[in-house]
Amino acid sequence: MANTSDAESGNVKVIVRVRPPNDLERNAVGRHVVEVMNENVLVFDPKEQSSPVALGRKRRHRDIRKRRQKDMTFAFDHVFGWDSTTEELFEQSTKTVIEGLIGGYNCSVFAYGATGAGKTHTMLGTESQPGVIYHTMIHLYKHIKELSEEKSCEIAVSYLEVYNEQIRDLLLPRGTLPIREDPSSGVIITGLSLHKPSTAEELLFMLQFGNKNRTQHPTDANAESSRSHAVFQVFVRQKDRTANISAEVKVGKMCLVDLAGSERATVTKNRGARLREGANINRSLLALGNVINSLADHKYKGHIPYRDSKLTRLLKDSLGGNCRTIMIAAVSPSHLSYEDTYNTLKYADRAK
Ligand code: ADP
Ligand code: MG
Repeated sequence: MANTSDAESGNVKVIVRVRPPNDLERNAVGRHVVEVMNENVLVFDPKEQSSPVALGRKRRHRDIRKRRQKDMTFAFDHVFGWDSTTEELFEQSTKTVIEGLIGGYNCSVFAYGATGAGKTHTMLGTESQPGVIYHTMIHLYKHIKELSEEKSCEIAVSYLEVYNEQIRDLLLPRGTLPIREDPSSGVIITGLSLHKPSTAEELLFMLQFGNKNRTQHPTDANAESSRSHAVFQVFVRQKDRTANISAEVKVGKMCLVDLAGSERATVTKNRGARLREGANINRSLLALGNVINSLADHKYKGHIPYRDSKLTRLLKDSLGGNCRTIMIAAVSPSHLSYEDTYNTLKYADRAK
């Protein structure tokens, strides 16, 4: 198995994507609070004193400015401005780990950010602008075809969501699924359906179908906010054609995750069930952050807190050890998302 408990910092790659301003943001009085300097550097809140902002917001912004360090320049493995395409982002993200996946290494890719920041656009996309998942699969098929003389590869996919600390199959919805850990084959979700889309169209149809089954609830903050973590998994089984019968079969897994909106539960006026939901979202995101931080800290040799949430338990064999991890932090450029953007950049910065 690719996973071991000792961490290697070089295996975490952090990418930030700034989406274009939407109509509301373009028309709002204010300014952009994110400036992309080059392909590695981004400055948050570049001109501090300028431009009018709403009074309440102004005070919160001032608090953030007091709390934060003076240097608001962030460096990441890659920064994509709003003129970038998903395909360009794919080139710098999952494309770089496909070789390893075929070689039997697990990997994981996350889209993190507040609701509306561009996570689903990046991971799933639309019919006219397909997302990272689509590009990854197309490239994987192409690559396997090229290798077909020497290696035989089988691909299967699954699509599930983690909602309120429970796992549900998005392609064959039927209640919640249990999770267990097998010493030899890693994390197993009992009853999860596996699929073998043979064409790009079939894959796109499957993704759309699965996405319609995602749990969404209207909240005060955003009627379309996604409250669940959607996990698309690709399993690759590879065997050398030239080698003898006893040749090792290599099994690799890639997890592509469209995380739930990272805005805090307290921001929305949630009560009861929604509040619990918010707490669970935060629990998973916090646990994920803690796991990635422990992995990114090369001096850290202690316990990695995988068991703190369903999401991190699920991803245990795709995070750490030899597994490559890619975090894509999605942000809006507008002052209207000032706090969300600041929090997302901090989360991403801690993951380095
Ligand atoms: P999230 O999944 O983070 O809540 P979405 O991906 O749904 O956010 O994005 C919110 C809106 O912004 C959508 O209408 C989406 O089409 C648009 N959008 C997001 N990112 C981009 C981008 N890079 N280019 C163009 N439109 C985008
Ligand atoms: Mg979304």
